[in-house]
Amino acid sequence: MTEKRKPTVAFFDFACCEGCQIEFTNYGDEATLELLKHVEVVEFREAMTETTTERIDIALVEGSFTRKADRRRLQDIRRRARIVVAYGACAATGGINALKNHQDDYHEAVYGEHGRDAHLESGPALPISAVIKVDYEAKGCPMSKYELLDIISCLLHGAEPTVPSYPVCVECKRRETICRYDEGDHCMGMVARAGCGAPCPADGIPCEACRGFVDEPNLRSLERVLMERAGFSQKRAVGKARMFTANLRG
Ligand code: SF4
Ligand code: SF4
Ligand code: SF4
Repeated sequence: MTEKRKPTVAFFDFACCEGCQIEFTNYGDEATLELLKHVEVVEFREAMTETTTERIDIALVEGSFTRKADRRRLQDIRRRARIVVAYGACAATGGINALKNHQDDYHEAVYGEHGRDAHLESGPALPISAVIKVDYEAKGCPMSKYELLDIISCLLHGAEPTVPSYPVCVECKRRETICRYDEGDHCMGMVARAGCGAPCPADGIPCEACRGFVDEPNLRSLERVLMERAGFSQKRAVGKARMFTANLRG
C-alpha cells in the first residue's frame, strides 16, 4: 500500500522581527510534535535551509507588506498555495510596523543620512491582505501558538477555524485573574479580541491589545477609562490604543 502524501506547509516572512517563527519553534510540546506527524514542512527560514518553488498546501505568511519589490513574491506564494494564512499582527493588520504610517521621517529616523538610498525603499506597512487574498488570520504579537495550531488542525480536518469576537476580559475573568486596574495599572483587555487566553494579565502585565480590537470597540470609553482609572493623558491614551491598531485608526 502506498503511503498517503502529507499536506505541505511553508513559512514565509516579510517585514517583521520573525518572532512569530521563533514562537513556533518554541512549541516543543505534544501538540506541535503531533502536528508535525501530519504535515511536511518544506520551507521555514528560522529552522531549516531548504526552500521550495513547488505548489504548497498551506502557506503561513509572517510580516507586513512594506516594499513594492515584495509584491511579486507575495503573488507567487498566492499562486502556488492552496490556502494562505497570515499569522502574527504584522501580517494580519500591519501590527506594530504600522506605527510608521503616522510618521513622515521614519527613513531618516532609522537610517540617518542614508535613509533615502534606493535599497532601503520602504513604504507604509500594510497587512498581507492588502496585496493578495488571505484565507485565514492568526492575530497577536506574537500569534497565539495554540490558535495557529488550531487553525492548521481545522484546515487538515476540513473544518472552519473560528476566532472569538468577545474581549480578552472574558478570558481573564475565566482565569480568575485580578484586574490590572485593581492593581493600579492600565489594561486594554476590554476592547482587545480574545483568543489568546489572557496570558498577559495573568502574568501581571497589561493587555496591550496585540490581537487587535473586537468588532466595534468603544474607543471613547477605552480612552476615558485609561485617563480616569490609570491616570493617562489623552495623548498617551490615544497613542496606547493605536499601538497594534495603527492601520485601523486615522
Ligand atoms: S507579530 Fe510581533 S512577534 Fe510576530 S513578527 Fe510581528 S513584531 Fe514579531
Ligand atoms: S486585567 Fe485587563 S483583561 Fe483582565 S479584567 Fe482587567 S481590564 Fe479585563
Ligand atoms: S492578553 Fe492582550 S497583549 Fe496579551 S496576548 Fe492577549 S491580546 Fe495580546
